[in-house]
Amino acid sequence: MNRRAVITLRRGKEESLDRFHPWVFSGAIASMPEGIEEGDVVAVESADHRFIGVGHYQIGSIAVRILDFGDTVIDKDFFARRLTEALALRSTLCLDRPDNDAYRLVHGEGDFLPGLVVDIYGKTAVVQAHSPGMHYCRDMIAMALTELDMLEVANVYYKSETTLPYKARLDPVNEYLIGGFDTNIATENGLQFHIDWLKGQKTGFFVDQRDNRALLESFSRGRSVLNMFCYTGGFSVYAMRGGARRVVSVDSSAKAIALTSANVGLNFPDDNRHEALAEDAFKYLDTMANGEHDLIILDPPAFAKHRSALRNALRGYQRLNFKAFEKIAPGGILFTFSCSQAVSREQFRLAVFSAAAQSRRRVRIIKQLTQPADHPVNIYHPEGEYLKGLVLYVE
Ligand code: SAH
Repeated sequence: MNRRAVITLRRGKEESLDRFHPWVFSGAIASMPEGIEEGDVVAVESADHRFIGVGHYQIGSIAVRILDFGDTVIDKDFFARRLTEALALRSTLCLDRPDNDAYRLVHGEGDFLPGLVVDIYGKTAVVQAHSPGMHYCRDMIAMALTELDMLEVANVYYKSETTLPYKARLDPVNEYLIGGFDTNIATENGLQFHIDWLKGQKTGFFVDQRDNRALLESFSRGRSVLNMFCYTGGFSVYAMRGGARRVVSVDSSAKAIALTSANVGLNFPDDNRHEALAEDAFKYLDTMANGEHDLIILDPPAFAKHRSALRNALRGYQRLNFKAFEKIAPGGILFTFSCSQAVSREQFRLAVFSAAAQSRRRVRIIKQLTQPADHPVNIYHPEGEYLKGLVLYVE
């Protein structure tokens, strides 16, 4: 075995790991040597000293995130292999095309790299660490990214100021690890977007709605579209291309509204079908006229960031969807989403069902949506499924 600190589990606590679930909870640990530090690579063994895997240690409820179930050295070659595998999947999905250069290359556990997210925008990779271990590996990851055949990464921007556990006191700095600022216009399905990885939310763009935006486009012809929580205006731009009669984009952040206007302008200069408003979504729905819109998108931020917030989150989804059901025109289509990982598909559907019943409208589910294929779910880690959406036909 390679020389690493060894964490020994309590009897029976290896069961989920034997089924390839990649997390060791702190309560499962029987013993570990003194001096282990957050971010260390450790080996994990069962109570009877059977080797289980290697992973990154951290303080908290998830104590180890398994990187490999073999006795593997975690070095640049390891990351190069994993990144090559991740890229092989994206190549199969044909996401790197002349008309599309924005996609997720690494989706944490879904790409067997727990704690790591990498989004690609043209020649720039935006790297986000969610664990101290990945934070310490950032330079190796950046090097491995630029050395990938088949992918032309010239700039690697590291953006983990808000994603690392605060208590770890890592004081991460958002910065370029390789290269520097490049054109920040990325192309998604032939549409152009300014991506603000320096100051924007997450890695600068929500690539996870790509397929759902394309679906929305196909429903947009002749409709009056209301894009709630628009952020960069992704859904709005697709609706415009789909032939919407009118598009209203709403976000409480003035910065988001400026981004949306810029993105609409980039694709449809001087097109007066679009209007962007910096306003609270709930307020807008309260004051909007009945039947003003017949295609509404509700894509709010995660209402439940943790399990403890679940009840309030479900109430929030119900309240929001009820307001949309109340106001949407007959024959309207509602795209409604939840990106809270703590809210299950069933719980979300129940919240929307309750809202529909409260509004007494006739509502049918015409599509059930999820995250796209570049956000894969490791079958042994069902927690990786987070995006849920319903497309509803409202009479
Ligand atoms: N639909 C977007 C992503 C939405 S992110 C996309 O496809 O890219 C969530 C957005 O909701 C953020 O831009 C945030 O500013 C906005 N937001 C949060 N609370 C809000 C509220 N009460 N009213 C309106 N917008 C809100």
